[in-house]
Amino acid sequence: MLKRMGCVLLDLVYPPRCPGCGCSVEVHGNWCPPCFAKIWQPRMISGSHKAGKLDGCYALTSYSGDMKKILRALKYSRALKYEKGCQYILDAFPWQDRFARIDAVVPVPLSTRRMYKRGYNQTEVIFRPWVERYGCWKDLLERVRSTEAQWHLTKQQREKNLKRAFEINKDSFCITGTHLLLVDVMTLGLIQNNKKCA
Ligand SMILES: [Zn+2]
Repeated sequence: MLKRMGCVLLDLVYPPRCPGCGCSVEVHGNWCPPCFAKIWQPRMISGSHKAGKLDGCYALTSYSGDMKKILRALKYSRALKYEKGCQYILDAFPWQDRFARIDAVVPVPLSTRRMYKRGYNQTEVIFRPWVERYGCWKDLLERVRSTEAQWHLTKQQREKNLKRAFEINKDSFCITGTHLLLVDVMTLGLIQNNKKCA
């Protein structure tokens, strides 16, 4: 009862609005249908299921338009009002059955310098509440050296930039024989060659 009253008061002070256009919506985090249609682009990255031991790499939207505005606001000023809008997108992930085999979800960590400067990892802000409803969040990766910002680098330079930048924190979890879901917020234009997942 108290929780319900809290929600009503919150809605009065901060009425639910579409994260895209700001129009009135029914529940916090909901998108209006036209805005959601513009940002909703679920797909498997072409060829990603053949890359080594990767079963596939999925993207749900693109870094443009309203999503660019939202991700920049979350990344640089922790705009909490957009967190639920991101949960709405993640909840719509169309291939939920593929999570049945996942043993843990692993975020890509920031460098110590960036973490200290920013105070949080935007990947955790966006994904963790969603992951904890379905599975197990594990901070398995450690960034063992700083890397350059990648937006201006070529594909070959990016591969070199990231080589040996991460290590697995083996103390916390035995990964042998496990299936891991790696989550990250990618703002590069590297997801151009896409296709719908079969
Ligand atoms: Zn809208």
